[in-house]
Amino acid sequence: MYALAENALVLFPQAVTTQIHQSRLIQCLQQQALIAQTFESEEGTAYLPGAGFAQHISFMGCAPAIDTALPSTGQSLTNFYAVRCVSSEAIEFLGNAATRPPRCPHCKAFLSNWQTPLKQWQAGSSNAFMCPDCGTRTSPELWHWRKRGGFARTAIWIHGVFEGLKSVGR
Ligand SMILES: [Zn+2]
Repeated sequence: MYALAENALVLFPQAVTTQIHQSRLIQCLQQQALIAQTFESEEGTAYLPGAGFAQHISFMGCAPAIDTALPSTGQSLTNFYAVRCVSSEAIEFLGNAATRPPRCPHCKAFLSNWQTPLKQWQAGSSNAFMCPDCGTRTSPELWHWRKRGGFARTAIWIHGVFEGLKSVGR
């Protein structure tokens, strides 16, 4: 079982209710050769990059080696790209440990303890987050997640992609 890199580029439709059926999404990515062989990861079924991966995903300032075969078990997957397709009837939160507090769409205040209202939303006991500053209640997908979170029914996760233009030791 492989643990995928936590760093990921997540692509999802702008309209939160849009759902693309998983089999249709996978078929489309296979036709574009963005994905190839499937394998099991701790996060569920994943795909190795296909021959067309580098044509669809461009990396600024570097040309990373893209493995199209699985490393041996137990080896680090830090610089390994893997693709997951997620599709569900329910709207899912897309975030991870890198997610930062969202900003209120009305007054721009931060919601520092966002995990608590998120859990209430996920449990179905609340349909909005209340702003601690202006008191407005707003659906979680309308908060500004600052590129570190989002909401969707369909998403493509590309694991192994690191964020932004950080210089590394130069
Ligand atoms: Zn507010």
